[in-house]
Amino acid sequence: MPLVPMRQILDEAAKGGYGVGAFNVNNMEQIQAIMQAANDTHSPVIIQASRGALSYSKMIYLKKLMEAAVEEFPHIPVSMHLDHGNSLETCKEAIALGFTSVMMDGSLAADGKTPNTYEQNVQVTCDVVEYAHPLGVTVEGELGVLGGIEDGHGAGLSEAEIEDHLTDPAQAEDFVARTQLDALAVAIGTSHGAYKSGRKDPVTGEMLPPTLAMDRIHEIHARMPNCHMVMHGSSSVPRELVDIINQYGGNMPDAFGIPVEQIQDGIAHGVRKVNVDTDSRLAITGAIRKVFAESPGKFDPRDYLRPAREAAYEVYVARMKAFGQAGHATDYTPLTLEDMKELYK
Ligand SMILES: [Zn+2]
Repeated sequence: MPLVPMRQILDEAAKGGYGVGAFNVNNMEQIQAIMQAANDTHSPVIIQASRGALSYSKMIYLKKLMEAAVEEFPHIPVSMHLDHGNSLETCKEAIALGFTSVMMDGSLAADGKTPNTYEQNVQVTCDVVEYAHPLGVTVEGELGVLGGIEDGHGAGLSEAEIEDHLTDPAQAEDFVARTQLDALAVAIGTSHGAYKSGRKDPVTGEMLPPTLAMDRIHEIHARMPNCHMVMHGSSSVPRELVDIINQYGGNMPDAFGIPVEQIQDGIAHGVRKVNVDTDSRLAITGAIRKVFAESPGKFDPRDYLRPAREAAYEVYVARMKAFGQAGHATDYTPLTLEDMKELYK
C-alpha cells in the first residue's frame, strides 16, 4: 500500500471518534518500533519527521526507511508527515520526497523562533495549501504559539508568555475558513520536550502537570465540529521512564508531561492527531543507559539498540491503545494522492 494522505486518516478517526498518534522518527529503530506496534495493535499511524530529523538522517535515508515500512506492512495505513515546516520551500521539499502531509507552522517566522503576526500566518498557510492540495497532500497549520523548543524550533516562551499565546477560538474559526487547511494545531498550554511544567504542589513540593486550557479545545470543537485538531507536545513523560534514566546515571529531575486522560478529553472534543516524541526518546535513552550500567563490557550496538527498540515499541503500543486508533487499520480502503487531488477539486 502506498503512503496514505493524512487527511483520510484524520477523517476516518473523526468518524470513529478516536485519535491517532503522530510519532517522530530519526532512525531505523524508531520506524521499526512504530510499525511493529501498529501491526500488533492493528492501528493506522502517522509517522512524522521534523526538519532536524531530516537533516540528521539525511533525507534520502528517511525516504527509503519509509518505503521499507509500507512494504513490510502493506495492510497498515501510514501517513508520512513533515513536522513544523518553516516555509513553503521546506514543504515543497518534503512533498518532492514523497511525504503525504506537511505542517506549515506559520505561527513562527521562517527562523522558527520569532512569532508571526496573524496575517502573516494566514498568508503563508494559504500559500502552502494552494501548493499542496492540487497534489493531494494534506496541510496542518498552527494558530497560537506553543511552549518549549523542539529540534531548535520554538519561540522559547516562558510559562506566563505561553498563557498569552493560547489559541483564540474565534480567530481559529476565521483561520480555518480563510486557509482551508486540513488540520489545526492548537496552543493550549502544552510545551515541546520533557519539561512541560514549572508547577509544584505547595504542600508536598511534588511536580504537577501543566495547566492546560482544555476549554479552548471544547470551544473550538463546538464552533467547528468538523475541524481536526492537533495536540503538540503531548508526551506523557511517564514517571517510570524518567526513573529508569535517573536510576542508571541520568539527570532529569522535574520532568513532567501531559496525563493521558487529558489527551483523551481532547480526543472526545475533536483532537484527531496527537504528537508524541519525548516519550520514545525517554524509553530509548533509559534502555541504553541500563545496558551500559549493567554490562559495561558490551560494545556491540545491537546489544543496546535492540532493547532500546523494544522499549520504544512498548510506548507506541500503549499510546495507540490509549488514543483509540488500535483496531482500526482495516476499517477503510486507503486513498491515494491521486484520489485526494480529485476530492480537493
Ligand atoms: Zn510540535
